[in-house]
Amino acid sequence: MTDLLSLIEKKKQGEELSGEDLDYLCRGATAGELPDYQLAAWLMAVCWRGMSAEETLALTRAMVATGETLEWGGVSRPVVDKHSTGGVGDKTSLVLVPLLAAAGLAFAKMSGRGLGHTGGTLDKLEAIPGFRVALSGEALQAQVRDVGCALAGQGTELVPADGVLYALRDATATVDCLPLIASSVMSKKIAGGAAAIVLDVKWGSGAFMRSRDAARDLARALVAIGEGAGRSVRAVLSPMQEPLGRAVGNALEVREAIACLRGEGPQDLWRLTEELGTHLLLMTGRDGDADAARERLRQLRASGAGAAKLAELIAAQDGDARVVDDANLLPQAPHVESLRVEASAPRWVAELDARAVGETVVELGGGRRVKQDAVDPAVGVVLHAKKGARVEPGDSLADIHAPDAERAARAAAGLRGAYRFSEQAVPAPVVQYEVVGD
Ligand code: URA
Repeated sequence: MTDLLSLIEKKKQGEELSGEDLDYLCRGATAGELPDYQLAAWLMAVCWRGMSAEETLALTRAMVATGETLEWGGVSRPVVDKHSTGGVGDKTSLVLVPLLAAAGLAFAKMSGRGLGHTGGTLDKLEAIPGFRVALSGEALQAQVRDVGCALAGQGTELVPADGVLYALRDATATVDCLPLIASSVMSKKIAGGAAAIVLDVKWGSGAFMRSRDAARDLARALVAIGEGAGRSVRAVLSPMQEPLGRAVGNALEVREAIACLRGEGPQDLWRLTEELGTHLLLMTGRDGDADAARERLRQLRASGAGAAKLAELIAAQDGDARVVDDANLLPQAPHVESLRVEASAPRWVAELDARAVGETVVELGGGRRVKQDAVDPAVGVVLHAKKGARVEPGDSLADIHAPDAERAARAAAGLRGAYRFSEQAVPAPVVQYEVVGD
């Protein structure tokens, strides 16, 4: 007979819990049958004592078993999924999902909301007038079958244990614990039912993991769980020292994602999209080599097929699909002003701190400090100068999209603090992705 007290004791002594122990714990937590104080003590013991790879996989399985798992038997195309550990200006899903659906894959993407300095895909989608992010499991499956893709919130029927455990982690300083993060992330991906999953594990000031080494450790743990659960999984380590692309803020990011699908967006956003998309095309056997996969993605972008698929997805979820042809239909902030290079500033941008940019957008009302906050879809910043840019006094570093002049002035101070300049030439970053898995 298992009881939670003995599981806490076991973990406190550094022992491994069995699959049966973890099933008991996850089932009991979900049903509200176990006291929060004991669950919290167990979480803290996990933080201090860690978990073996087998135990982390068993925890993930136990979490998945508390809810539904999506089945994709009725979909003839390979079903794929993607997860990003979160960052600033990361609108990659808005580009990647329609593009891969246009490439013949089925993309069932469940996303989250922004919190703190990081943005969330659901908030970006809700900047599109009418867009509905809440889809039942059945509606999601039907849309993926008919349209080839869906971008939706995760219903409570998938991994309810994660909701319970995450709330406790949030309240007990036990969020930043590798096996707990890995099982939380992968339980939702596994319950989503995709056969091939690509993970974008970010590192840098704007990311959950500040260093590349920490991101690599997380990537390895995530991939090990996915493989243990019989999925094809690869993780791409990508930098998040400065924001991805130029736009940060919900409607501004949708606009930039549409531009990227039209071949006009910033290069770093396209490169990351191409990298992640190439892995999924290879993992599903859609393409036999990376060059063919990249060429396919470029052609789908150039032909407008990716943009057309985004319009189809938006219409299927009751959004105004005309935004794909006319981005001016997206919400626009009433006050736009430029942050300019001061006369005394030296000439190269040496650093643009992603976290500080994200916090500036939260300050403008475009993000949340706490879960309950409402977000203003129209506000944000568009960065004209990133690391390595040469700038002259008076040049615009960024445009600030604000509700009013006062909020813009406050944001300008925050954004100026995100920049560091150098008198010497600074090279623009050359991104080298590192891949974990397969
Ligand atoms: N994202 C998740 O889904 N879970 C975590 O634990 C951390 C980030």
